[in-house]
Amino acid sequence: MITLALSKGRIFDETLPLLAAAGIEVLEDPEKSRKLILPTNQPDVRVVLVRATDVPTYVQYGGADLGVTGKDTLIEHGAQGLYQPLDLQIAKCRVSVAVRNDFDYQQAVRQGARLRVATKYTSIARDFFATKGVHVDMIKLYGSMELAPLTGLADAIVDLVSTGNTLKANHLVEVERIMDISSHLVVNQAALKLKQAPLKRIIDVFAQAIQQD
Ligand code: AMP
Repeated sequence: MITLALSKGRIFDETLPLLAAAGIEVLEDPEKSRKLILPTNQPDVRVVLVRATDVPTYVQYGGADLGVTGKDTLIEHGAQGLYQPLDLQIAKCRVSVAVRNDFDYQQAVRQGARLRVATKYTSIARDFFATKGVHVDMIKLYGSMELAPLTGLADAIVDLVSTGNTLKANHLVEVERIMDISSHLVVNQAALKLKQAPLKRIIDVFAQAIQQD
């Protein structure tokens, strides 16, 4: 049995065409089903639905043989013991700094002010501001980061941005692009040895499918 860990939403949706290239079709729609283990048309391949931040953990400890997860998650939560053969070039977005549109970020940075930064991505944010030489007070949040500058909780947020519509709708502006993000294939090292042929086939088909795009 080959177990693939995916998270619902963009990663799931954008992995489907890659699976199709490998002849794998997921038989249930995660938006309609409450099942956490989804069968596929291949009796020996199944998909498990986990939170995006749990994908590396499932794969690392063998709860899944392989998984798809964002580079942001791999950086924040670590990728110890994971084989990362492919950048799948899906679920693309960026990690950016955003502030209220009436906040003068450049001025605050120039003046050497201490910035209060709210984010789920504390590691990425800390590294970024340290490299820039900006002193920050980091406030860890788990969601709805856009709310932090609007309520006075923080001066700035570090969050994923795709179209920029969420920022715009909340009167926020992107002031720095920290890094581009896409999703990667991660594989359990032991599984790669024990189930070499089927896993290598999936990796090879995914690699080919990406190149054709
Ligand atoms: P957008 O309005 O298109 O800029 O999307 C921004 C919102 O979607 C933010 O709340 C992000 O956290 C989330 N988001 C954007 N891209 C991704 C992605 N690739 N993976 C997970 N969340 C994302």
